[in-house]
Amino acid sequence: MFWDETIETLGRDSLDKLQLERLQKTVRRVARHVPFYSQKFAAMGLKPGAIRSLADVRRLPFTTNADLRDNYPDGLVAVPPQKRLRLHTSSGTTGKPKALFFSRQDVNQAAELIARCLVMAGTTSADILQNMMTYGLFTGALVMHYGAEKLGMLVIPAGPGNSEKQLLLMQDFRTTALHTTPSYALYFADFLEKKEVDPRKELALRKAFIGAEPYTEETRRKIELALGVEVYNSYGLSEMNGPGVAFECMARQGMHLWEDNFLLEIVDPQTGEPLPEGQTGELVLTSLCREAMPILRYRTRDITSIVPGPCPCGRTHRRIHRITGRSDDMLIVRGANVYPQQIERVLMSLPAVGRNYLICLEGLDEMTVKVELSDASFDGQVDHLVHLQSQIADKLRAEIMVKPKVELVAPGTLPISEGKAKRVVDKRVL
Ligand code: AMP
Ligand code: ZN
Repeated sequence: MFWDETIETLGRDSLDKLQLERLQKTVRRVARHVPFYSQKFAAMGLKPGAIRSLADVRRLPFTTNADLRDNYPDGLVAVPPQKRLRLHTSSGTTGKPKALFFSRQDVNQAAELIARCLVMAGTTSADILQNMMTYGLFTGALVMHYGAEKLGMLVIPAGPGNSEKQLLLMQDFRTTALHTTPSYALYFADFLEKKEVDPRKELALRKAFIGAEPYTEETRRKIELALGVEVYNSYGLSEMNGPGVAFECMARQGMHLWEDNFLLEIVDPQTGEPLPEGQTGELVLTSLCREAMPILRYRTRDITSIVPGPCPCGRTHRRIHRITGRSDDMLIVRGANVYPQQIERVLMSLPAVGRNYLICLEGLDEMTVKVELSDASFDGQVDHLVHLQSQIADKLRAEIMVKPKVELVAPGTLPISEGKAKRVVDKRVL
């Protein structure tokens, strides 16, 4: 099932040709309308006409997070005020937010891509989507909302939090699909367990679109088991519309990245040099259709690789693997490089572990992993807990090469956030 079969199954040559035309147009537009880019081109001695093949994308400058902040609020906008239709922001972790503008065409195009994603994941206009992402400045909820409406689904704009109300909505309106973050999905799973609600018997859920933050296959399985849904990974970033950049099809072996809208490169995060297809590195994206705020070679900081070979679903747009972390996520603990995802993978593979955890770095270089127990393992038997604690510490050591302290806590006691989960608290005095 396709939303736009022609474009979704376009042959490689036609797709390349389309990408090149759109890249050339984008480069011409930013050279004319965005001083930030025209000045960069001038400094590099680059004429827009010099982009003659897709490989020439490498001649273009990168755009970074810092460039977006430095040009806040509207230094990168390519359209006059009367063509600006919507503003979103992305806060990131530090400093000023990044402001992202959409024209009417951008709002429509973003919705079109979401409609493709939803059909690709096997939903139809008969599905009922409960959108549990944060509505507001964040792109996550609104972009999904418009796309699901475009497909013709009933959309329940629930927003995050308030699990009682979420459950009521699911029961009363027979919600079939969810859109949420992995951390809230796990939190909600806990809530259902406490309420002794069996989602398979009492709810109509069948699919969950989960994204906005990194998670592992183990977490996917936990969510699927607890909510009785199939989980589809959904990837996007505000700089490229928000959700709908890449999404899993029903084969669920990587996320198709809509190449008619985005030109993808994988580069070495340290040097910025392109890596051969299949190698793991930083995803770099160039928008090919965005009108209000086109962005060239955006350094996403997200680490992934391209899935080799064709997909059984017949779509020709290449797939990327699950994001394994961000290049700026890496922690250095006692000299070892540690990605929070490695810790999550270990924890979520253990049945005795519950659904939330927190990595705390303190003092000179002390790492403590706080781990919520599952309800079943929270039995008050001390020898049991001591054994579990050392088992977790050993498994973590084998994965990350340093042995953290492990602190077991009762189910539901670690903080949860409404937006993106905060997995690391770093209070080291180094
Ligand atoms: P924002 O622009 O605020 O929506 O944040 C975008 C960032 O969220 C991306 O660059 C990723 O780091 C992260 N992200 C979004 N979706 C996913 C996903 N499915 N898996 C991992 N990380 C994700
Ligand atoms: Zn596919």
